[in-house]
Amino acid sequence: MSNFAELVQSTRETFYSGKTRPLEFRIKQLQALKQMLEENRHEFHAALNADLRRSKFENYVLEIDYTINEIIHLLRHLKEWAAPEKPTRTFVNALDEIVIYKEPYGVTLIMGAWNYPLQLAIAPMIGAIAGGNCVILKPSEVSVATAKLINELIPKYLDNECYKVVCGGTNETTELLKQRFDYIFFTGSTTVGRIVREASNKFLTPVTLELGGKSPVYIDNTADLTVTVKRVLWGKFINVGQTCIAPDYILCTPEVQNAFVKEAKKIMKEWYGENPQESQDLCRIVSDKHYQRLTAFLSNGEVAIGGQVDPADKYISPTILINVRPSEPVMKEEIFGPILPIVSVSNAYEAIKFINERDNPLVLYLFTMKKDVQNLIITQTKSGSVCVNDTIMQYSVDTLPFGGVGLSGIGAYHGKLSFDTFVHPKGCLIKNFNIIGETLASARYPPYSEKKLKV
Ligand code: NAD
Repeated sequence: MSNFAELVQSTRETFYSGKTRPLEFRIKQLQALKQMLEENRHEFHAALNADLRRSKFENYVLEIDYTINEIIHLLRHLKEWAAPEKPTRTFVNALDEIVIYKEPYGVTLIMGAWNYPLQLAIAPMIGAIAGGNCVILKPSEVSVATAKLINELIPKYLDNECYKVVCGGTNETTELLKQRFDYIFFTGSTTVGRIVREASNKFLTPVTLELGGKSPVYIDNTADLTVTVKRVLWGKFINVGQTCIAPDYILCTPEVQNAFVKEAKKIMKEWYGENPQESQDLCRIVSDKHYQRLTAFLSNGEVAIGGQVDPADKYISPTILINVRPSEPVMKEEIFGPILPIVSVSNAYEAIKFINERDNPLVLYLFTMKKDVQNLIITQTKSGSVCVNDTIMQYSVDTLPFGGVGLSGIGAYHGKLSFDTFVHPKGCLIKNFNIIGETLASARYPPYSEKKLKV
């Protein structure tokens, strides 16, 4: 294991040299990062495919091009966002300058997760570079091929003193977390999120924690069922459900459940054929550990669709479980796989109660034509974000914050928030020695008197 204390120290010295501060430098580095992604599209696809057996379409749309677009968006606005802000002055400060500087934090630690191993490592890094920080990036060790490629390419394209990659797993993360960072950005489970938060407390390091949880879907009988089924299944089965914002489970009436399953059978056959294992559009479960964890859920409720498994191929067919009881294991933890349970509720009020009795979801999905039901659920529940009548697409809106609340996370990013996350808004009051100003302000000096209190 490398000497992380030295690594952080040398990176901090680079930060204090001022190298990352000029906007031109940051812009050049972001352009180089974009070039890295553009010139190595094929290599990134190959690595992602080796890690997750994921299709070219999903790799391009959800990882490579998504990340390129995020860079383009930041580059377009960086000058405006990084400019010092001049808030309005009050009468008291009429003669002063009031400025908010966007101060980079310093040395940031960014830790990615394996399920979108490129995007989740690079997207936060874009914000950190844009903010003028140095970065120590730790990609997930579970997605080995992508981590190896990131480790090879970053030093070839980016400044080697400011941006460094560390590979490794729990041991390396544990050692890294003993160091003093100026900002920590972690994507992963709530369990490890707690470990990161505890470690950050030692130095009161600010953190963003992008965590997981169960994202519910409520469907009522006014939703267009054919479209609803397609949008829910697409969101669930991309990356075979190994998506932090995947619809985790459905809440609906038994009537909607029956209609959903009937339509889903048709759609799934159309998308994946008679034998989904032969489809090139379905990924595989990332590891044997996750495969074992997921197959245990298949005995919950009743299998309405799917349920086939192949341990040698780490394959679980897209599965829908019906009549699932809230007390069953599949409803106790984040599923993170191609299994979609349906739990019966009789109306929107019951759905709200169900959601509010559990940990705050990362995302809440609802499908209904009724505006009053949309408003009721949006205002009566707490979640990182909400998407009405679709799934996943909220993630691609670069003007929407992305992040959790409660156990699904702390902080948010994407677009301007990625920049804001990595800068400290440093308030600055600049006075002069103007005689009028000094006369007005002199009431604050002793000796204090009753008369001065009345001024
Ligand atoms: P994880 O928390 O298990 O692991 C993340 C990293 O933490 C690992 O790569 C490892 O290096 C390190 N780690 C693991 N155990 C550790 C320990 N005991 N001490 C110190 N470090 C340790 O997460 P994961 O399996 O990589 O990702 C899956 C989770 O991430 C899911 O819960 C998912 O919902 C969540 N996730 C969230 C988002 C988001 O943006 N909110 C995105 C993707 C994934």
